Amino acid sequence: MNENLCPVCGYDLGVPAWKGLSPSDKICPSCGIQFGYADFAGGSIEKRKELYRFWREAWIASGKTFIPKTQWKAIISRALSNTTCPPPDAKDINTNN
Ligand SMILES: [Zn+2]
Repeated sequence: MNENLCPVCGYDLGVPAWKGLSPSDKICPSCGIQFGYADFAGGSIEKRKELYRFWREAWIASGKTFIPKTQWKAIISRALSNTTCPPPDAKDINTNN
């Protein structure tokens, strides 16, 4: 697995999109995502993964073209409002504990 590949579209960025908690600040020339900005996702790695999924869908829907900044907001808000929280465990809702 090449860690230099864009997590959205697979373009070879030449550097990792993120090194641990440090974003590259790069804009992917293929899908338009900017690491550390468009994918900040409130600092949540889980939400960032979700955002990548939505970004990829938008990228494919656009015919795999560069997504300009003017369209970021729509994708980001859609991705972050998609709360796929797992259901609580039975022990969490058992008030007798
Ligand atoms: Zn990309």
